[in-house]
Amino acid sequence: MRELTLYRHPDGGVSIIKGTELGLVPFTVTYDENAPCRICGEPVVSASMGGTDVCPWCDCGRDRDGKQWGYRKLLEMGERARNSVKTHSPETQSVAKEK
Ligand SMILES: [Zn+2]
Repeated sequence: MRELTLYRHPDGGVSIIKGTELGLVPFTVTYDENAPCRICGEPVVSASMGGTDVCPWCDCGRDRDGKQWGYRKLLEMGERARNSVKTHSPETQSVAKEK
């Protein structure tokens, strides 16, 4: 399991970008780095801007070998992302510890 600090907006939204000076409240979530990415199904390894359930490669639109997705694959993966259920997003996780 790994930990990630996120920032909660007053409107309830969650950001990965540090924003305490904007009044965002930091909190820590734990996530399973071996859980499948909800887009490609490979282990997420590390959280990304897409959250704790999207791998950094899918977040950047790349294959794991670094190859940039073409337009067709971008559409296909975008469709998968829209149709997939967020299984371990911050909203559904228990907050590990409030800071
Ligand atoms: Zn992925």
